[in-house]
Amino acid sequence: MIYDIGIIGAGVIGCFLARDLAKYRLKVAVFEKNNDVGNEASGANSAIIHSGYDPLPHTNKAKYNVLGNQMYDQICKDLDVPFQRIGSLTLAVQPSDIETLQMLHQRAKENHVETQLLSQEEVLKLEPNLSKQVLGGLYAPSAGIIDPFNLCVHLMENAIDHHVQLFLNTPIQEIEKKEDRFVLNQKYQVKILINCAGVHADEINHLLGIDSVSIIPRKGEYLVLDHFQSDWIRHTLFLVPSDQGKGVLISPTTSQNYLIGPSASVCLKEDKDTDKPTLLEIKKTASKMVADIPFSQTIRTFAGVRPTPKNHDFIIEETTVSNFIQVVGIESPGLTAAPAISKMVIESILSKKIPLHLKKTYRPTIKKYLKIQELSFAKRNQWIKKNPNYGEIVCKCEKITKGEILDCLSRSCPPHSIKGLKKRLRVGFGKCQGGMCQPQALKLLAEKKHCQPNQIPYDSLKSWILDDPLGGKENENR
Ligand SMILES: Cc1cc2nc3c(=O)[nH]c(=O)nc-3n(C[C@H](O)[C@H](O)[C@H](O)COP(=O)(O)OP(=O)(O)OC[C@H]3O[C@@H](n4cnc5c(N)ncnc54)[C@H](O)[C@@H]3O)c2cc1C
Repeated sequence: MIYDIGIIGAGVIGCFLARDLAKYRLKVAVFEKNNDVGNEASGANSAIIHSGYDPLPHTNKAKYNVLGNQMYDQICKDLDVPFQRIGSLTLAVQPSDIETLQMLHQRAKENHVETQLLSQEEVLKLEPNLSKQVLGGLYAPSAGIIDPFNLCVHLMENAIDHHVQLFLNTPIQEIEKKEDRFVLNQKYQVKILINCAGVHADEINHLLGIDSVSIIPRKGEYLVLDHFQSDWIRHTLFLVPSDQGKGVLISPTTSQNYLIGPSASVCLKEDKDTDKPTLLEIKKTASKMVADIPFSQTIRTFAGVRPTPKNHDFIIEETTVSNFIQVVGIESPGLTAAPAISKMVIESILSKKIPLHLKKTYRPTIKKYLKIQELSFAKRNQWIKKNPNYGEIVCKCEKITKGEILDCLSRSCPPHSIKGLKKRLRVGFGKCQGGMCQPQALKLLAEKKHCQPNQIPYDSLKSWILDDPLGGKENENR
């Protein structure tokens, strides 16, 4: 089989491209080194759909941020992805910040983004729990929050439903350029190749002798608070940005938790550890925005790694190697910009290389997920009568039923690990962090995959929960 288009990387960029290309009569393959989609930067970030007031005007970041933001209502409706436009407040905590807010308000106008400058009194009306240190703010009503991991999963589901092929556990380590195609790992043949490999994009370029792009990995650490009070914070709160980026934020999440972070420090590409001094620094900075943050409600910490390009702007272009396209250096606001980037790659680059004929059968929607907890008692009872598995609660903290887990395992982009299940359905996401429900989740996953529970990893193929079924020998093709 020769694929028309090969995509390296199933982060949000690769997933949007896969879904947007699925509507055409093309053979498309996605190659992902991990055992799941969205498991790098795209699944470990601040989850904000930025309004777009912040990027420097006329950059790729500004252009695709603003366009991408506008596309999200329809995308999330079609793909059943949690998304809420809660608005953001950028807060001044020292007199010089007021001047910066005025500059950002001007920049917002240049980027065609609506913002309002607010006094201390006006800001406190919107957010009563702010610290007394806050002097005023910049309100951006179009900012939103999203579930970024499930965005990737649902995009890929829609793509797979329309015959895009996803190869998981497939790190691309070798690329041979032939006259009319590329041969990947001496096995997969593709006519056009797109590099969406995040922090590893420079390594993919090196395989084809391109060394013009260097990616600096920069880690961002976070704390997650439990859903202790629904309106503790109602908007995404930022401090004024610095040359290190948007800085620490406090934000509600679509699953009613609160996110505090990120930090910003250069790191190794695979380093996703969190450490106490950094988390303490985040707590100190966040406390400038909100007084008495209930840090005792912290249920977990995590980190994501930004693929920062040297010039600090997205690189979206055909390279010097014909038919090799790079969509790289997609740091923040890459999640927001992703749908607009994908549209541009298809309309401005791919359309000149390959005929794009629409499939008559294409549907932009996926089958809706049944969320028992969100139904009325009468509706829940109807479902339980139809299928008693919807009455058996597995995750007691988040109240997820066996029926919902079995549904999830039968979808076209299912989980292959405990973390994949946890991030899709929130099984094990509550106070006990899986202490109670993980054994049953493991059993259900193993039954579905017709394997032993010790063959199910927590996350990557190296993270075994029980003993190592491979005796230390990693098997990438499982
Ligand atoms: C801390 C942090 C906070 C952020 N906050 C926001 C935010 O609030 N809003 C926003 O808009 N943006 C935010 N971003 C930016 C956003 O997350 C990224 O721009 C976006 O996720 C990048 O997507 P990607 O697909 O390019 O990269 P990734 O998500 O990293 O995906 C790359 C994929 O390529 C795969 N891969 C790599 N090498 C190979 C190989 N050799 N073979 C096969 N597969 C390979 C990887 O496994 C990975 O799945 C944030 C980023 C971070 C890290």
